[in-house]
Amino acid sequence: MKKKLATVWLGGCSGCHMSLLDIDERILEVAKLADIVKCPIVDGKPFPEVDIALVEGSVTSDEHYEEILHIRKQAKVLVALGDCAVMTNITGMRNYFPLQDVMAAAYTHSPSNDGEGMWPNHEALLKLHGKVLPLQSVVTVDVVVPGCPPSADTIFYVLYELLNDRMPDLSTAQKLKY
Ligand code: SF4
Repeated sequence: MKKKLATVWLGGCSGCHMSLLDIDERILEVAKLADIVKCPIVDGKPFPEVDIALVEGSVTSDEHYEEILHIRKQAKVLVALGDCAVMTNITGMRNYFPLQDVMAAAYTHSPSNDGEGMWPNHEALLKLHGKVLPLQSVVTVDVVVPGCPPSADTIFYVLYELLNDRMPDLSTAQKLKY
């Protein structure tokens, strides 16, 4: 029976998803073994129950926090995909400064604003946390895939192993040809 696979991005640049798309025709191998039931590239429905969840990005806001708790409940195997998910990476650079200073630097004091910019304030926007968190500081992560982004070969290796009920071993992945 085919597995259910979903992907999502939280606080990330979507580069990890672009690398996923770089598996090119190997997506057909994935499609033989899994139905891709949710992906931010094509839909916005609630996160369903799945066998495997690939999660790009870190936890930056109330919304991300609630989302990753929900994903953890829905997914048998949760994969932290890429350095933002694993250790916050680029999104965590603001952790060195108070959030108010970061907002002021971006929206008030940037040269294009000349000290007169307005901070974004709309109910539809994310409510940022003071600190950005990696996934494993909020939920249990089953598989960690580092890289910014991880290579397409690495992503395919991880997916292929999980879809065949094997736990990927990234220490050997580079020696394998997929
Ligand atoms: Fe983008 Fe790199 Fe973060 Fe992936 S790990 S979301 S490519 S910044």
